[in-house]
Amino acid sequence: MGCKQCGTCCRWSGYVHLTDKDIKRIVSYLNMDEIEFIDTYTCLTNNRQGLSIIERDDGSCVFFDDSTNLCNIYNVRPQQCREFPMRWHLKDMTGCQFD
Ligand code: SF4
Repeated sequence: MGCKQCGTCCRWSGYVHLTDKDIKRIVSYLNMDEIEFIDTYTCLTNNRQGLSIIERDDGSCVFFDDSTNLCNIYNVRPQQCREFPMRWHLKDMTGCQFD
């Protein structure tokens, strides 16, 4: 099952957990300082044991570009996004496109 970059999962509300490796890859791609990235784009998960990418008011991921329907950091997207739908807690995958 391969991702067809339909953007459906990027519009769903929920955690996108970040590993240390994810953060290193993304900050390097964005040419940002790690602390600045964490302050700007992440939030602490409810169990206070990890970081997640922040979402907009409509639940979409802050890195999702609605005008292009693409992820702005696709080449360095977090492992959780690479492994979709594993580790995503979904009730309904209607609308998500796979090969
Ligand atoms: S990081 Fe990219 S692929 Fe992952 S949810 Fe956000 S927009 Fe989608």
